[in-house]
Amino acid sequence: MTFEDLNIIDPVLKALRKEEYSIPTPVQGKAIPLILKRKDVLGSAQTGTGKTAAFAIPIIQHLCHEKKRNAERPRTKALVITPTRELAIQIGESFSTYGRYTNIRNTVIFGGVKQGPQEVVLRKGVDVLVATPGRLLDLINQGIITLKHIEYFVLDEADRMLDMGFIHDIKKIIALLPQKRQSLFFSATMPTNIVNLSQSILHKPVKVEVAPQSSTADTIQQKVYYTNKADKKDLLVHILKDESINQVLLFSRTKHGADKIARNLKKKNINAAAIHGDKAQNQRQKALEGFKAGKTRVLVATDIAARGIDIEKLSYVINYDIPNESETYVHRIGRSGRAGLSGNAISLCEPEENAFIKSIEKLIKKQIHIVKDNPFPQTDRPMNAAEKKEWEKEKQKRKQEFFANAKKKEGRYRN
Ligand code: AMP
Repeated sequence: MTFEDLNIIDPVLKALRKEEYSIPTPVQGKAIPLILKRKDVLGSAQTGTGKTAAFAIPIIQHLCHEKKRNAERPRTKALVITPTRELAIQIGESFSTYGRYTNIRNTVIFGGVKQGPQEVVLRKGVDVLVATPGRLLDLINQGIITLKHIEYFVLDEADRMLDMGFIHDIKKIIALLPQKRQSLFFSATMPTNIVNLSQSILHKPVKVEVAPQSSTADTIQQKVYYTNKADKKDLLVHILKDESINQVLLFSRTKHGADKIARNLKKKNINAAAIHGDKAQNQRQKALEGFKAGKTRVLVATDIAARGIDIEKLSYVINYDIPNESETYVHRIGRSGRAGLSGNAISLCEPEENAFIKSIEKLIKKQIHIVKDNPFPQTDRPMNAAEKKEWEKEKQKRKQEFFANAKKKEGRYRN
């Protein structure tokens, strides 16, 4: 199948050719025809599957076909809600890219920055508004934005949105949307609370499922080093001696850990930067730009921060720790081998995480290759008192986080 087979209009086809996209990804192949037919879509697709283009292209096309559109001062007819500013920026860039040869205008609004410049663009009129929930509600309350004319509504990364506590904001936004509209709902995972939310938004949706959450792409080589907690930093330096690992996205479970790892690497003259929620917006942007420009070799990120990162042709992902939720592992390694390219996922597993690897293997129905050539193999050496104390604290924290997540997911307490 080619994009030409999907009845896409010429200016968009031209933009896709410029991007050198020739073959639609599976989510694009399935979703674009449905969205063009004005169906509501419930899309379950991981990051990196090409889902942004899957909704951006048909929306641009719908807008181009609007008969009464005022090109000088368009009304905002499409709204995309997404959880983080990084994602919002990327989605905005996608609309600009695919709409390059049309006169469809978009803008992006998010919090944490002055609203003045956003206001100026909004007053000139845009067709497509990409927003994070908080700032959008702010600007609506100030009368700067109205959702009265929205005909196309996209809720992106719904699971992450709920995870970040945006449920009330989302409900408020939905209440302001016109009843008659086309809605598209995307989420990487589909737990019950997400399905319930989708039902309150979508009308007779068609399901589009690409690579269920429990599967990892065969194009990703997965390896694990069984090691000790204290040896991880040296093992990492050892792994990075391999120069073919030109760029890595490295996951750290905690923000504090992310900073520490980046610092250690820098001490060893390995160019690294950390990106997480405690960093200021400009710091995050700078770290990301350095990585995209190839100046930074290792980008250390927490799970939430990494969601907003779109890096083309990422070939390596390293798990500095093993997530206790197996789906998080699937998510993380999905960042490599994007859009059909081959990728590598390397995990560093300490004894206390062995059980996590087992449950991951059960979920993905695959065995992760164990690296034998490992200068820091796992030993059964007993932990010293300080390590033990730290591990007890860590265990407690993980337990709390686990239950907090479970509570959020299920909407009820478990213990
Ligand atoms: P997304 O899942 O929307 O974050 O997209 C993942 C990445 O794949 C982005 O970097 C896109 O630029 C890229 N991409 C999207 N569609 C295609 C395609 N049909 N062919 C090649 N690359 C694509």
